[in-house]
Amino acid sequence: MASIYYDDDADPAVISGRRVAVIGYGSQGHAHALNLRESGVEVKVGLRETSRRRIEAEGEGLSVGSVAEVSEWANVVMVLVPDQHAADLYAAEIAPHLQDGDALMFAHGFNIHFGEINPDDGLDVLMVAPKGPGHLVRRTYTEGSGVPCLLALYQDATGGARELGLSYAWAIGGTRAGVLETTFKEETETDLFGEQVILCGGLSELIKASYETLVEAGYQPESAYFETLHELKLIVDLLYEGGLTWMRYSVSDTAEWGDYSTGPRIITDDTRQVMKDVLADIQSGSFARQWMDEARSGAQRLLATRARERSHEVEQVGARLRELMPFLTPKAPD
Ligand code: NAD
Ligand code: MG
Repeated sequence: MASIYYDDDADPAVISGRRVAVIGYGSQGHAHALNLRESGVEVKVGLRETSRRRIEAEGEGLSVGSVAEVSEWANVVMVLVPDQHAADLYAAEIAPHLQDGDALMFAHGFNIHFGEINPDDGLDVLMVAPKGPGHLVRRTYTEGSGVPCLLALYQDATGGARELGLSYAWAIGGTRAGVLETTFKEETETDLFGEQVILCGGLSELIKASYETLVEAGYQPESAYFETLHELKLIVDLLYEGGLTWMRYSVSDTAEWGDYSTGPRIITDDTRQVMKDVLADIQSGSFARQWMDEARSGAQRLLATRARERSHEVEQVGARLRELMPFLTPKAPD
């Protein structure tokens, strides 16, 4: 079994003795910066001069500077910008301001594992990756709990990288929930596989395909929406609480029998083979190369696909229905 670390395994004094620059103030960045500060850590936020996020961070009373300025000031730099922009930003504005003994940190292994960033030998290079979105990292911290984190070491130049990582994880609330040690390779490859095959890619296509099947067969779009998207949350909550067994115990016997008899007709041997192919593309670096090519050439396909997907009928119907649900605050991107 893997080792899991908790509060008692972390020394708060380690991170309290450092100066931490959090680069980026998005989903993860705002949560790390605010949690670190409330844990008594000296922190500054690095953003572009033109960033809309500056007002938000300054509004919270955080000290904000350019990426170069805060990297110069800090001896721990946590990079929380979109993965596809991190390497260019690192080369231009972070690397020139790091010294031997400083720590370079990430919340995902993409850039280090695929060689987009090649840090100097004198740096500690490590990852503390919360296994949840930043808004949950922030909310659970304020409630006194935390989100579980992964810890991985790539380079331990000082001999203190693990202690630093555990102390950082303590400061953002991670050791309250448990910190699992892994490697950059394992975190990166399993994270990409999960988001492509089930959490985002597989699930989105299952939703659209099942919605379209019902609507094309003449059922009301509203019924199709509830059945193929809305109810997912209830099922996922059961899975989260007690795994497959608890979910199957909680649904009707009819639903349970349909699960066993029909599930394997949806996920076939062909689908399983495709999962293996997807994993091979991730492991070989082929997916990472294609994504970085796309991002560096202007991300036109990403933007076009995003626009097309947002106009899918299930999104129109869903937006209308969610407006009518008193128990939820409808969310939309800005
Ligand atoms: P995000 O898109 O929410 O925020 C990115 C931030 O970086 C924004 O504040 C943006 O203004 C800033 N930024 C973008 N380009 C910049 C540049 N060139 N210079 C300076 N600042 C710039 O990103 P995120 O989702 O918080 O992801 C950050 C990291 O955390 C990634 O490595 C991601 O893989 C990892 N991560 C994210 C999640 C999640 O649920 N969102 C979970 C675990 C790990
Ligand atoms: Mg420095």
